Amino acid sequence: MSGSGDGGPKILLVEDNETIRGAFAILLEESGYGVLQAGTGGEAAGLAERERPDLILMDLGLPDMSGLEVTRRLKQQPATQRIPIVALTGRTLEADVEACLAAGCDGYLTKPIDSHQLLERIQGFLRGAGG
Ligand code: MN
Repeated sequence: MSGSGDGGPKILLVEDNETIRGAFAILLEESGYGVLQAGTGGEAAGLAERERPDLILMDLGLPDMSGLEVTRRLKQQPATQRIPIVALTGRTLEADVEACLAAGCDGYLTKPIDSHQLLERIQGFLRGAGG
């Protein structure tokens, strides 16, 4: 489940909802990004380790493990620890946000996610300016 792009920054899109993932993949590709897609935490970890994307958009609710677990794993490995990870979450409770940052997420976006906001945040992270 990966389609790689054509030279632009490479984004790994992790989302188990195929409708959301498909819509974001089109948006990102049309914006010039190379898009890798994963629908489970296991796929996400494997793709991140093999492909070293420039940024990861990480849904937290995945069928096999939490997106926070995937994030912790990637942030513990030298090869992947510098890849910015932006959590996609439906939860905005302070405790959830803290858990997200404690796991190593560099930022988060709350669903429903506005496409304009998504692209702005991505650009910010790729510039190294954070979100
Ligand atoms: Mn989900």
